[in-house]
Amino acid sequence: MSEYKKICRRCLISDMGEEAYREMIGGHIDIIKAADRSSDELYNKRLEVCRECEKLNAGTCLSCGCYVEIRAAMKRSGCPAKKW
Ligand code: SF4
Repeated sequence: MSEYKKICRRCLISDMGEEAYREMIGGHIDIIKAADRSSDELYNKRLEVCRECEKLNAGTCLSCGCYVEIRAAMKRSGCPAKKW
């Protein structure tokens, strides 16, 4: 049997489970200052848009290469395609 683990290109990293999420994103979101961090509502709203976007590729954005979950967590950040 193959050791190859199939990764869904349409999923966010957080959809891979807590362990994979922490491993790949690390503490990046945790170290964003509270004043610079998106509200939970804004964060989730942005990621809903990413989930429907053709540029989402296993948690990264094909337009800019960022991890969308980190980008969405920064209040003054924006989508490179201006979708949010
Ligand atoms: S282009 Fe925008 S909406 Fe699409 S994955 Fe990238 S950040 Fe998300």
